[in-house]
Amino acid sequence: MPERDDYRTVSRELSPGHHIIAIVATGGEADTKSDDEIIAALQNWKRDHRHLQPVDTPPDRERWPMPQPFGEWLMATKPGPKGPCPECGCYGLRLAPVPNKPGEEKVICTMSECEACPWYQEP
Ligand SMILES: [Zn+2]
Repeated sequence: MPERDDYRTVSRELSPGHHIIAIVATGGEADTKSDDEIIAALQNWKRDHRHLQPVDTPPDRERWPMPQPFGEWLMATKPGPKGPCPECGCYGLRLAPVPNKPGEEKVICTMSECEACPWYQEP
């Protein structure tokens, strides 16, 4: 059985020691593209998806139900650090007691749309 070359590898040295490598399947749209176009498309993709790359230290995600009544809970907790939430940019950070862990407090985001919020709800 003849070996089929199903993939085309395009590599470029962007700067000394910094290569970008694209591997594209052959037999499709990529066959009509030049190496330059493939590298440009890959760089665009990387730029658009930069926020999807995993962060170096994934924050530990505490999950607990939204405190009820929320207004009272909010009054009883202390404000979190000054500045926006590192995840969603809101100013809803609070220093809150961790349920079922007496004496333990944790900075949380209070925006339920934010993954740093313990009662985060998947959209
Ligand atoms: Zn947040």
